[in-house]
Amino acid sequence: MLATGAALIDTPGLREIQLWAGESSVAAVFDDIAEFAVRCRFADCSHATEPGCAVRDAVDPARLTSFHKLTREAVRHTDPRPEKTRWRAIHKAQRQFYKLRGH
Ligand SMILES: [Zn+2]
Repeated sequence: MLATGAALIDTPGLREIQLWAGESSVAAVFDDIAEFAVRCRFADCSHATEPGCAVRDAVDPARLTSFHKLTREAVRHTDPRPEKTRWRAIHKAQRQFYKLRGH
């Protein structure tokens, strides 16, 4: 316990902190990306290389990179299937999220 009332916790053996949140949590954090995604030319746009991507035009590239990275992380952690199959799951999760938001 520190003087300030905070607790300093040492975790020997903990080598990495993995992302445990699911894909929907990632999408929820990147609200702005969902906003622009409705203007993408393709409904299943992954905002990576597709032409007519409204997200790539509007969102800061660094932020978009984080979005891709976190989405990948989240799916990798919750989905044991091979990379190619997981990508499909990523895009599906993104589409479901946009649908949930009513777009
Ligand atoms: Zn896009």
